[in-house]
Amino acid sequence: MNDRITLFGATLPDGRARDVVLRNGRISMLREPGRLCRETCAGLDLTGYLLLPAPAEPHVHLDRALTWEPVGSDPDGRDGAWRSWLVRPAPYHPGDLRRRSRAALRTLAGHGVTAVRTHLDIGAGRTPLRAVEVMAELRAEFDRVLDLQIVAVPVPGTSDRTIVDAVSAGARVIGGRPRFASDCRQEIRRLLRLADRAEVALDLHLDDGFDPRLLAVGDLARLLRASGFDRPVTASHLAGLNRLAPSALGRVGETIAASGMRVVALPSERGCGLPIRELVAAGVTVAAGGDHLRTAGHPMGLADPLATAAATGLPAAQAWAAVAGHARNVLGLDPGGLEPGAAADLFAVRAGSLAEALQTRPQDRIVLRGGRVVARSGRLAPIDRSTSLAQDAQVSRGRVPAAA
Ligand SMILES: [Zn+2]
Repeated sequence: MNDRITLFGATLPDGRARDVVLRNGRISMLREPGRLCRETCAGLDLTGYLLLPAPAEPHVHLDRALTWEPVGSDPDGRDGAWRSWLVRPAPYHPGDLRRRSRAALRTLAGHGVTAVRTHLDIGAGRTPLRAVEVMAELRAEFDRVLDLQIVAVPVPGTSDRTIVDAVSAGARVIGGRPRFASDCRQEIRRLLRLADRAEVALDLHLDDGFDPRLLAVGDLARLLRASGFDRPVTASHLAGLNRLAPSALGRVGETIAASGMRVVALPSERGCGLPIRELVAAGVTVAAGGDHLRTAGHPMGLADPLATAAATGLPAAQAWAAVAGHARNVLGLDPGGLEPGAAADLFAVRAGSLAEALQTRPQDRIVLRGGRVVARSGRLAPIDRSTSLAQDAQVSRGRVPAAA
């Protein structure tokens, strides 16, 4: 199979036009336009498209996605939304869970995402691992389109045994919401011990209760130093840090940076005030995610990395790094890029510059994973289609084909 393909005339983020040669799932070389023959090379014409490293979604809750209609609005805010979710068994029905999760994954992939980390509640009801089991099936179904990483998030009262079983069922990360435990610090210690025993990464919802006195992220950083835990650790949300005075925030940022912990901000979320700029200034690597897609707690979630990046408020290049390279880093993937050797997970959007793309969020997009087109204009190529981009381009040489 000829796995060489050329993307002709793409605009790079620095404004240069380049022909980009892909081979065996990676970027092989970049050339000034006109040096490679369009007549004999299989390729796509990306004139008018901005080419970027593909984004990843480092923090989403697929089990709750698209539940705005069944759960409804929540006058009590985020905590009430979460509690109302827990007492509603309907969304855990496997067929419903599969349908909603599949739809959310198709939306994410259509918007450009080639890797997803989903947090899933475990421990509730008579089928405490159902969400993990269903998502493991979807991981196989979407294998050609995106990487899907599962975080098992124990609801209050979940036993150690169930958490370990979730790893056996397909979770690759242990999560948690320590603030809902009777002893927040004790819960952090327990989850750290279980992740160590199961040899998986840790990704916790921390300081999302808007009470800066807890400062659970500081506790986690100290515990990490004392425990010698050497697997990747991520702290998500951290909205409570916004209540800190600048000097205290600076000290917390330095503590996080020194711990090597990754941080995921959810800038589109209602009430999220994670001070991203201040943490970045303190040396923390901050990725950005969407958190929710049309849920009671966040009915307007867009599952669009361009919207998430824009919501960070960072300069354009830093904003895209937050949803691309930094987000891939959270998932343990190589950071990607536009250099020879980088993975050909790429995102082409019809725009003249990154700032324009962030502002206008065009839907005219082409998504490549491992050098294959997996989505155009928001629509996925059939998942069972195994054509390589090179084969695909044979029928579309010299122009971007219409959406599938
Ligand atoms: Zn979350």
